[in-house]
Amino acid sequence: MSTSGKSPARRFTTTVLGTPRIGPRRELKRAVEGYWAGRVSATDLDKVAADLRRQTWQELADAGLDSIPVNAFSYYDQMLDTAAMLDALPPRVAGIDDPLDRYFAAARGNADVTPLEMTKWFDTNYHYLVPEISDSTTFRLRPEKVLAEIAQAHGLGVAARPVIVGPVTFLALAKAVDGAAHPITRIDDVLPAYFELLDHLVDAGVEWVQFDEPALVTDAVEGLPQLAGAVYQRLAGVSRRPAILVATYFGDPGSALGELARTGVEGIAVDLVEGSVDSVAAVPELADKLVVAGVVNGRNIWRTDLDKALGTLGSILGSVGNLAVSTSCSTLHVPYTLDAEDALDDNLRGWLAFASEKYREVAALAHAVRDGRDSEAAAFDESRRALATRETDDRLHDPAVRARLEAVTSADITRGEAAARLEQQYEQLGLPPLPTTTIGSYPQTSAIRLARAALRKGEIDEAEYERRMQAEVADVVALQEKIGLDVLVHGEPERNDMVQYFAEQLDGFFATQNGWVQSYGTRCVRPPILYGDVRRPTPMTVDWITYAQSLTAKPVKGMLTGPVTILAWSFVRDDQPLSESANQIAFAIRDETVDLEKAGVGIIQVDEPALRELLPLRDADKPAYLDWAVTAFRLSTSGVADTTQVHTHLCYSEFGEVIGAIAALDADVTSIEAARSHMEVLDDLNKVGFSNAVGPGVYDIHSPRVPGTGEIEESLAAALKAVDARRLWVNPDCGLKTRGNEEVIESLTNMVAAAQTMREQLV
Ligand code: GLN
Ligand code: ZN
Repeated sequence: MSTSGKSPARRFTTTVLGTPRIGPRRELKRAVEGYWAGRVSATDLDKVAADLRRQTWQELADAGLDSIPVNAFSYYDQMLDTAAMLDALPPRVAGIDDPLDRYFAAARGNADVTPLEMTKWFDTNYHYLVPEISDSTTFRLRPEKVLAEIAQAHGLGVAARPVIVGPVTFLALAKAVDGAAHPITRIDDVLPAYFELLDHLVDAGVEWVQFDEPALVTDAVEGLPQLAGAVYQRLAGVSRRPAILVATYFGDPGSALGELARTGVEGIAVDLVEGSVDSVAAVPELADKLVVAGVVNGRNIWRTDLDKALGTLGSILGSVGNLAVSTSCSTLHVPYTLDAEDALDDNLRGWLAFASEKYREVAALAHAVRDGRDSEAAAFDESRRALATRETDDRLHDPAVRARLEAVTSADITRGEAAARLEQQYEQLGLPPLPTTTIGSYPQTSAIRLARAALRKGEIDEAEYERRMQAEVADVVALQEKIGLDVLVHGEPERNDMVQYFAEQLDGFFATQNGWVQSYGTRCVRPPILYGDVRRPTPMTVDWITYAQSLTAKPVKGMLTGPVTILAWSFVRDDQPLSESANQIAFAIRDETVDLEKAGVGIIQVDEPALRELLPLRDADKPAYLDWAVTAFRLSTSGVADTTQVHTHLCYSEFGEVIGAIAALDADVTSIEAARSHMEVLDDLNKVGFSNAVGPGVYDIHSPRVPGTGEIEESLAAALKAVDARRLWVNPDCGLKTRGNEEVIESLTNMVAAAQTMREQLV
C-alpha cells in the first residue's frame, strides 16, 4: 500500500514545472566562472547558489504558488546532476576526489580528461550533457544534492516539490559507449536507485516528487510509452514513497498519457500549449489523478491569453480528478523579468511575459478556476488589452510585407539548372580546381573585444568603432592573401552574434537589454524577440563586404545568416505560423543578396547551421517543417542571377533526417561539418542525388590541434572518391572565431598546401 493515500493536504493548485537558475543578473555565471578561475571558494560559490534558490522560491511563494519546484537549480545541467545522483559519471573522472571538481570535469573537461558530449535539449536552445553508459556502468544513489536543497527549502518553510529527471528520459537521452546496447536497456539496473530515492524523500518530509519525462513527447526510442507505463507502475508500487507527479512537456505525450494514467502515480503534468486538450478527455483514468495543466507557455515570452487559457482549463475540469494550473514546461528557457527592460514601448511591454510575469499569470488562472473570472478582473482586462493592441499595432501588420508574401510563386524559389549555373560561375570567377575558402569568422582578437567594450561604455563613438573594425577586416584580408586562399571572407569582426547582428538591423525584432537565458553551463544568450512584420530598412552588410573586396583582387564572399537560423535563435511570434515568419525574414535576406550582387559581389554565403535544430520532435511533423524551411532558404537565395554563386554552411555531420532537405536547398556550394568521415558525408549526399558542389570540412575547428598536410591530403583523397574534382571545395568545418591566431595560420597554411598537392595530382 502506498502511504500517499488521498488526503486533501496532498492537493496543490498552482505551480510551475521549473525555473531559471543563472540569476537575474547572471550571478551564478560569475560565481561558477570565478570558482573555475580560483577566485571564488567552494563555500562562497555555495552561498551564491543558496541565495539564488532562496530568492527564486520566495518569488514563487509570493506569487501565490502552493507547490514549489526544488532541485530545479543546477551548477551546470540537470542531466549531469542526474548522472551524478546515480553515481554514473564516466570512469575517466572517477579519480578526481572532490565531488564538485569531478562534476565540473565531466561538464567541461580539464587538462587530462575530455568532457561529456553536449547536445540540444529537445527542440529548445538549451544544451544538456549526454551521460555515457557502458556495460560496466553501475548505478548507485547519491542523493546529497537533492536532499540538501530540500533541507534548505524546508528550513525556509517552502512547500518543496523536488524535480528530478525521470529514469526513462535519463536513459533515452544517454549515449551508449564502448559497444554497449542502447542505455534504455539498462532500465532495470537504474530503477533500484530511484526506489531508494523515494524512501529518502519520505524521510525528508517530501509530499510530492516530480519526475520529468519529456522524452515521452518524442519518437526518439521505440516503445517508450509502454516502457514508461511499466516503469511508473513499479515506482508507484513502492510502499514508502511521496506522491509522484510525472511531467511530460514540449508536446503531446500521445499514447504515453494513457499508459501513465493506468499506473498508480498520483499526478501527471501535460503541456496544453503544444499538446491537445482532447488527449486529456480521451483518457478516463485521469478522473482520479491530479492533472497539472500547462496552459501558460513556459518557453516563449508572450503574455498569455487568459480567457483562452481559462477556457482550456474549464474544458478538462470535468475529466480529471484534481486540477492544478502550471506553465507548460520549466521557465528555464525564458528571461527572469520584464522589470529589467527599460527600452520597451508600452505596447510591446504589454505583449510580453518573462518568468516572473508568468508566475503571476499561473496564479491568476488558478484563482479564477477557484473563484471565477471576476476574482481576477484586472489581470483578465490587461490580457485582453494586450491582445487587442497586438491586433491593431501597425508593426505587426505591414500591408507591403503581406502583399509580397502573397505574391510568391515557384519562380521566386527556383534558379536555373544547377550544373549549368556552376559552369557559368566557375568561368566568371576563374577559380582553380579544389578551391580553398573559410566559413566566415576569423579569431575574435582582444582588439575586437576592447573596441566593443569601449563602444558599450561610450568611450568611443560609432565611427571610431567602425574604423577599428575596418582595420580588423584589412588584417584578415591580408592574412588570407598571404596564406594563399582562393575565396576570401571579411572575417565578421563587426558581428557580436550571427543572429543578433541581423535582428538589430531588421524592423520587427527587438533586442532585450537583460533577457539572458542559459544556453549551456555558464554560457548565456540573449535571443532577440521577433514581434512584428520583418522589413529591412537599409542594406546590412554591403559596406563591409565591398570594403573587404576593395582590398583584394581575389573574390570576397558576402556573408549572411539564413531565415531558419534567425528564427531558431530568436523568440518568435505566436500569432502566425513559423513558415510565414520564415518567409518574411527570407525576403529581407533576399533583398540583401540582390544588393550585394549589385555591388559586384559574386559569391554569397547564407548560413543555416540551425536547419536541423528546428526539426519537430514527432516524425509525423517533420516533412512539413522541412518543406517550409527549404522554401524559406530558397526564397532568400533565388533572387540573384545564375552567375552569382550561392554558398551555404551547415554545422553537423550526422545528417540523418535532413539529408534530403540539404540537397533541396540547392545551394551552389554547401560547406558542412564532416568530422566522422568524408566518404560517409559525401556518400549520404550522393544517395539523395545531390550533385552541386560541396566542401566537407577537412579539419575540426573545435579543437586547438593543428592538422598536418598529410592528413588533410588523405581527407581530400577520400572525398575525391565520392565526388569529382569539379565539385569539391576545401575548407575547415566551421567558423574560426573561437580559435587563436597562431593555430589558424598554421592550420590554413597546411590546408592550402594540401589542396595544392592534390591539384597537382589531378593533372
Ligand atoms: N559564418 C559563421 C562563422 O563563420 C558561421 C557560424 C556557424 O556555423 N555557426 O562564424
Ligand atoms: Zn558551422
